[in-house]
Parts: sequence; C-alpha cells; structure tokens
Amino acid sequence: MTTSTTKNQTHYECPDCDQPLVRRQGNKGYFWGCSNYPECTATRPDDNGKPGPARVKPIAMGDPCPECNEGERVKRTIRNGQRQGQTFIGCSRFPACHYAEFG
Ligand SMILES: [Zn+2]
Ligand SMILES: [Zn+2]
Repeated sequence: MTTSTTKNQTHYECPDCDQPLVRRQGNKGYFWGCSNYPECTATRPDDNGKPGPARVKPIAMGDPCPECNEGERVKRTIRNGQRQGQTFIGCSRFPACHYAEFG
C-alpha cells in the first residue's frame, strides 16, 4: 500500500555544476560521477542505486599513531550509523590499525 507521492526521480544533480550525475562502474564497484566529466570531477559513492553522502577526506594531524607507531593520526568523519557526521581521530593505516579516539 503506497500513498506516497511518486517523485520518479531518475536523475540526481551534480553538487558542483548541476549537471546530472550518472552511475558508473569502477574498479571497486559502482559510483556516481558527473556527466560533465572530465570538466567536472565531482563523484559520489553508490548507496543502493542512488548517490550516497560525499566522501570526506581524512585530515592529517601531523603526529604518529600511538597504537602502531607506523601510521599517522588522521581526523575522519563518520559516514553512517548513529554517530554520522561526528568526527574522530583515527589511524591512517585503518583498517590495518583500529586506533580511534573520540572527542
Ligand atoms: Zn558536475
Ligand atoms: Zn595506527
């Protein structure tokens, strides 16, 4: 029983240039890229057939990981789950090293 208003959204707009995003298959599976590529290089990860939240690049903190002493402490943003949007300090060697420090 569906009473929802059917939006029938078959395309998603690029966050950078408003051109439609297109689903592509890469080495690591599907992702969404801008149809204006290569002029626009915006991408989104694939989330069950639709564009997922943007990947946030880890920010290097400039000091070594206290757990493995090989990696570097990096600031990451949690992309899903209860703590979505929160930042924490992790190891650049993740998933090899599971160091994590919540603020
Ligand atoms: Zn674009
Ligand atoms: Zn580490």
